[in-house]
Amino acid sequence: MEEIHYEMLWDCQYCGTEKLLGVSQRFCPGCGSAQDPDSRYFPEDEDKVAVADHKYIGADKRCSACDAPNAAVTKHCINCGNNMDDENSVDLVEEKKKNEPVPAPEPKKSNSLPKIILGVVILLGVLLCIGGSCTKDAAMQVQSHSWEQKIAVKEYARVQEKAWKDKVPYKAESVSCREKERSTEKIPDGKDCKTVKKDKGDGSFVEKEECKTRYKEIPVMDQYCTYKIEKWKDIRPLISSGKDLSPYPPKGNVETCTITRIGCQKKGTKTETYTVHFQDSTESSTVYTCDFSQDIWKKYEVGIQYDAQVSLLGSLDCDTIKRKQ
Ligand SMILES: [Zn+2]
Ligand SMILES: [Zn+2]
Repeated sequence: MEEIHYEMLWDCQYCGTEKLLGVSQRFCPGCGSAQDPDSRYFPEDEDKVAVADHKYIGADKRCSACDAPNAAVTKHCINCGNNMDDENSVDLVEEKKKNEPVPAPEPKKSNSLPKIILGVVILLGVLLCIGGSCTKDAAMQVQSHSWEQKIAVKEYARVQEKAWKDKVPYKAESVSCREKERSTEKIPDGKDCKTVKKDKGDGSFVEKEECKTRYKEIPVMDQYCTYKIEKWKDIRPLISSGKDLSPYPPKGNVETCTITRIGCQKKGTKTETYTVHFQDSTESSTVYTCDFSQDIWKKYEVGIQYDAQVSLLGSLDCDTIKRKQ
């Protein structure tokens, strides 16, 4: 289909005549001034004038001597006679978008930038603080000790679990499933079209329909299942704890078996925590804690004075503790 060319309009800056035709009126009929390509604009719909039998030969060239637009093939300026061989094309007019919602992806980009900058600033601040420039000196003394030893215990049991059907273990029993939304899928849902005006640069413009596919999200259903399965599960751990300097292992029975069956128990990993409580010398209500290995923990004696670094957020840097000289 052949494109219909319409006249761009221009206003004469010398005598004020408005809505002159871009293709047909290269000079102002009021005062004879040459057309200024910068004054071209798209007409309102009621002012649209089609150019009959328009033959498009390319964007106009601008005369560098007098600014008059000349057809692309012109050898000498129609206004001043200047040689047009090496002249540049006129600037194209962009259609002003009016009453149009801003396309979705753009605000996201511009909005996320300040957030990224804020994030970087916070990250730098945090790095500086980790680097040690956000700490202050503090004096403290050992207030007390505490310790805890914990042994995880597992029991072989029949447990109920839930999973999508494709993730249900093959050993599962009493499987019961129902339909549930697992994800969403984007599918095309028609097109959003609008007519846009394109400046051809020779005093005319054409109209084009630009369409974008619209999408909608639809739920993707799947089977979500409840089932029973026999497996090792964590039960209450064995714990011993105290506030003295003589830790002992947790007591308690673990029902181990040689052949795994329901009710069998086994021990898991053992964790030991040895904590020293430091009291701030200037603010006695402030107590800091540090965890150490058992050997080092024992060497902190109650009442002995220490210097250390405390962050501005109030946490003690346990690596900076030094005995007061
Ligand atoms: Zn004029
Ligand atoms: Zn000229």
